[in-house]
Amino acid sequence: MFRGITMLCRAWRPCTAPRYLHTVYQSVELPDTHRMLRDTCREFAERELQPIAAQLDREHRYPREQVQKMGQMGLLSVAVPEELGGAGLDYLAYSIAMEEISRGCASTGVVMSVNNSLYLGPILKHALEKQKKQWITPFCSGDKVGCFALSEPGNGSDAGAASTVARLDGEAWVLNGTKSWITNAWDASAVVVFATTDKSMKHKGISTFLVEMPTPGLSLGKKEDKLGIRASSTANLIFEDCRIPRENLLGQPGMGFKIAMFFSTSQFKLADMALALESARLLTWRASMLKDNNKPFTKEAAMAKLAASEAATKISHQAIQILGGMGYVTEMPAERHYRDARITEIYEGTSEIQRLVIANQLLKEYQH
Ligand SMILES: Cc1cc2nc3c(=O)[nH]c(=O)nc-3n(C[C@H](O)[C@H](O)[C@H](O)COP(=O)(O)OP(=O)(O)OC[C@H]3O[C@@H](n4cnc5c(N)ncnc54)[C@H](O)[C@@H]3O)c2cc1C
Repeated sequence: MFRGITMLCRAWRPCTAPRYLHTVYQSVELPDTHRMLRDTCREFAERELQPIAAQLDREHRYPREQVQKMGQMGLLSVAVPEELGGAGLDYLAYSIAMEEISRGCASTGVVMSVNNSLYLGPILKHALEKQKKQWITPFCSGDKVGCFALSEPGNGSDAGAASTVARLDGEAWVLNGTKSWITNAWDASAVVVFATTDKSMKHKGISTFLVEMPTPGLSLGKKEDKLGIRASSTANLIFEDCRIPRENLLGQPGMGFKIAMFFSTSQFKLADMALALESARLLTWRASMLKDNNKPFTKEAAMAKLAASEAATKISHQAIQILGGMGYVTEMPAERHYRDARITEIYEGTSEIQRLVIANQLLKEYQH
């Protein structure tokens, strides 16, 4: 059945939705292809995720079976070209699929976004052709997921201050240091990791490496007991004389910071909630379309992230308020949505950092 859906996904992309045709100004409605994708993902989320989301949250359980099915549907590699095993769709499709899956289960949405954006994204952009088969294809089917290790204890927002180091020893890189808060850590089969190769160059001395998991010299910290998105694992990665082949460097030495920053969710209340949701959705689509059209999208992506996290916070807060006491107990999903929403103001760049990015881009545009 899922193979069939993958085929459907594949049939959609090129024929009816050429990338250059849709801009946010032209398309108030989604193209047919994307509407079909949205319906398929919505149906999957309502059938497979929504009924178990509360249980996954309570048990802090990774949704392995559902992730595998999503892999077979092409949802773990939405924008990866078909020849590498991906669905070969665009970033608008990815945004739409992410929204529907996260609506069913925010934790599963996080697993999906880390694999698509944080793990596969930088590899797709920066890997050599010979690296792509090894590090991309097995991560498209849902059998394996990847993770992304940038943050360290004490320098989450200041990514340039990486104290994890990598030194070349013959034909091997030797990694030492601790990465913190790594989503998918306990379930991942590989990690994109950032480490300093030349301290004197500060952020320009950070390089990116591909590391198989498990591997000697790399151990996992305890699973964090989080406020929300509890079905996704979050843990430290501890590198102690971890030797990896020399060819596992991603991109050029010193490109790490650049790679990371590329990546670098009563009637008046209902009206406010709908307004926040639609604004965030349109900003997300606009950023996706700019990326699909190879246009600069840094400011728009930061605006979309900020609007999405503000919408998630506002909507989940209002939902509890509308439901009153019932909103505060675990019998209704509202309290879980409230807890899950909180993380969107922190991970993948806090709201303060998104504001800095927007302001910096505005000043740059003004100077030009
Ligand atoms: C559940 C979860 C999952 C995560 N997953 C991953 C992952 O998969 N991979 C990964 O690498 N990281 C991950 N992170 C880490 C996340 O990206 C960091 O927590 C985030 O970047 C914030 O860093 P920090 O926690 O060190 O807080 P800090 O950087 O110490 O920030 C604390 C506060 O200070 C503010 N602040 C900091 N600098 C400035 C500034 N210059 N101007 C204004 N305000 C500032 C921040 O906005 C924030 O309010 C995850 C975190 C969590 C909680």
